Amino acid sequence: MLILERDGVINEEPEEFVASPADWQPIPGSLEAIVRANSAGYHVVVASNQPGVAQGRFDIDTLNAIHQRMFTELSVAGGHVDAVFFCPHAPQDKCQCRKPQPGMLLEIGTRFHADLQDVQVIGNSLGDIQAARAAGAQPVLVRTGKWQQTMQHKQELVGVSVYENLAAAVDALLSLN
Ligand SMILES: [Zn+2]
Repeated sequence: MLILERDGVINEEPEEFVASPADWQPIPGSLEAIVRANSAGYHVVVASNQPGVAQGRFDIDTLNAIHQRMFTELSVAGGHVDAVFFCPHAPQDKCQCRKPQPGMLLEIGTRFHADLQDVQVIGNSLGDIQAARAAGAQPVLVRTGKWQQTMQHKQELVGVSVYENLAAAVDALLSLN
């Protein structure tokens, strides 16, 4: 199983929010990478923080429409994701699902009966890496979206695999098997 951050990993990361389907633009090669993971038999699940919901920047219907665009574009490329998990809360809500908390990842593990120590969590932010570690999964960093902010936390990146983008990360993973 692979767990992917959405913004800045699958699609381009705008300055603030992906607030409409039109804002959802795939990073070149990311959809094809998901297709390759599908073909290799991986479950692919998306897990992302979407605080714009709690902050009133967009509603759940809009978020569903954004995901529908992702599903449609993936389908055209010949791929799919097995599930999309999101945290709709704001940081001050102190929920257990917002990364860097591990709640969303633990729920995915439970839902798919997956042992998270065998699961790569591919993200571009410090919160993705911390959540992966807290859940007992394997953190992987890709250098797309706002990844440069993450590189300032060198201590936290010790032992983390780093790849140019999702396509390179998936290729490296598949070559191990
Ligand atoms: Zn939450």
